[in-house]
Amino acid sequence: MSEKLALVTGGSRGIGKACAIELAKAGYDVVINYAGNEEAANKTVSELKSLGVDAAAYRFDISDNDAVNNAIKEILEKYGRIDILVNNAGITRDGLFMRMSKENWNAVIDTNLTGAYNVSQAVVKAMVKQRCGAIVNMASIVGIYGNAGQANYAAAKAGLIGLTKSLSKELASRNIRVNAVAPGFIQTDMTKDLDAEKITEVIPLKRLGEPSDIASAVKFLAVDATYVTGQVLQIDGGLTI
Ligand code: NAP
Repeated sequence: MSEKLALVTGGSRGIGKACAIELAKAGYDVVINYAGNEEAANKTVSELKSLGVDAAAYRFDISDNDAVNNAIKEILEKYGRIDILVNNAGITRDGLFMRMSKENWNAVIDTNLTGAYNVSQAVVKAMVKQRCGAIVNMASIVGIYGNAGQANYAAAKAGLIGLTKSLSKELASRNIRVNAVAPGFIQTDMTKDLDAEKITEVIPLKRLGEPSDIASAVKFLAVDATYVTGQVLQIDGGLTI
């Protein structure tokens, strides 16, 4: 077992899985969280273990405050510390604003924004005791620039950026850094129904992003960027230049 632990929410698939692998390669034991896809979570845990680190998957809904507190308590009892938190889990419920149901508004805010609040609050208490830690929040370029048909998602991601900047100010004196990444279009289950060819035309680097493109930046902010806090790094192939 390593002496350092990283927790990645939504680490069973897509960008979260790539972040978990990158942090394992950097020598961290990794706990991934997931919502329901046990098969994907178990597969990711096996891949992490094959990199020589300890790994485990915890199923809980990050929007459920009690479930989060119970799970973080269990993780801390088992591992004793959490050095890195990647608030990655997120969902979309797209639709034009005028027809957007309260249910779809709430689902996205509750998971993408309140979920990060729930997990961060539980983890930060341990980080403050450790007097060190790093948090990376998974925002989106949509949280900076907006997107028609994604008012709920954009509002949640913009909120996450505000949370990042505020927490970075509150926690800097405790040696806890808080940053965010804002991905553009990344090839995962979340984007599989989009017209990749059409999107590629407007991306200066002429390709969609891979989860590993985001994971390397997350590892940089969490591990290497020891004097960086409160920043939002856009990773979008130049889309927003
Ligand atoms: P994905 O492939 O759909 O994976 C989502 C992950 O989040 C899965 O592990 C899923 O668990 C988990 N999850 C969903 N709801 C959860 C909940 N309530 N509690 C706990 N875990 C939950 O998504 P992705 O594309 O990798 O996106 C990851 C993050 O990057 C999201 O925050 C997304 O908004 C952000 N992002 C993505 C893109 C993109 O182009 N893909 C761009 C910008 C930002 P299960 O496997 O159990 O369902």
